[in-house]
Amino acid sequence: MSKVLIVEDEVKIARFVELELIHEGNEVVKAFDGRSGLELALEKDFDLILLDVMLPKLNGLEVLRRLRLEKETPVILLTARDAVMDKVSGLDAGADDYITKPFAIEELLARIRVALKKRGGSPVANNFMEIKGVRLDEDRHEVTVQGNSVVLTNREFELLKALMKNKNIVLDRDKLMNDVCGYDYVGETNIIDVYVRYLRTKIDDRYGIKLISTVRGVGYVIKDNVS
Ligand code: CA
Repeated sequence: MSKVLIVEDEVKIARFVELELIHEGNEVVKAFDGRSGLELALEKDFDLILLDVMLPKLNGLEVLRRLRLEKETPVILLTARDAVMDKVSGLDAGADDYITKPFAIEELLARIRVALKKRGGSPVANNFMEIKGVRLDEDRHEVTVQGNSVVLTNREFELLKALMKNKNIVLDRDKLMNDVCGYDYVGETNIIDVYVRYLRTKIDDRYGIKLISTVRGVGYVIKDNVS
C-alpha cells in the first residue's frame, strides 16, 4: 500500500482521483491549497504527491521548490493544457513527471504506478516494446523511430501503446477508446480514426514504414511481421 498526497483545489477532481487511488489499494490524504499541502508534505512521509500547479495561497511550483529544499518525495504535477512554461519550470524545480489537464484517469494511474515503482528502489528493467524500428518506452514515456525521437501527445502515445501491446490482434474502436480516452470519455468513436491519422503522419509517412493497418469495418492492428 502506498501513501499518496493530493494537493488540488478543485474538489471534484481531488475526490475522483482519491476514489480511484483508494480503489487501487492506496491510502490518500488531500489538501485543497498550496500552504496546507506543503505543510502536510513536510510533516508526513508520502510515497507520492500529486500536485496541482494553479493553487490558492501558494502555487504548486512554489510548493515544489520549498519541498525540494528538504525532501525528495516523488511529485507528479497537474498542469493546465498547453502550459509549456509550467512543465519546464516544474521539471526544473524537481517534479518527477507531469500530466496535462484534462487527463484520462487511466493515464494518470499509469504514471502513478511508474512513479511508485521507481520509488520502490528495485532496479526496474527498461519497459519497452519495439516493432519495425518503432520503439516505445513506457517508463520514460518516449517513442523513437529508427533512433529518432518522435513527439507524441498523451493520447497518441496511449493509442500506439495499446496497439503495440496487442500486436497482431485487431482492436476495435471501442476498445481503443477505452484505452486512450478513459472509460468515462463521452464522445464520438471516430476520435480514434483522428488519432490514427496523426500517428500515421508522424510515423508511417515520415519514415516510410507501414505500421498501423486498417481492418475495414473493425478497427486497427499493428503486425510485427513484414508482409
Ligand atoms: Ca487548480
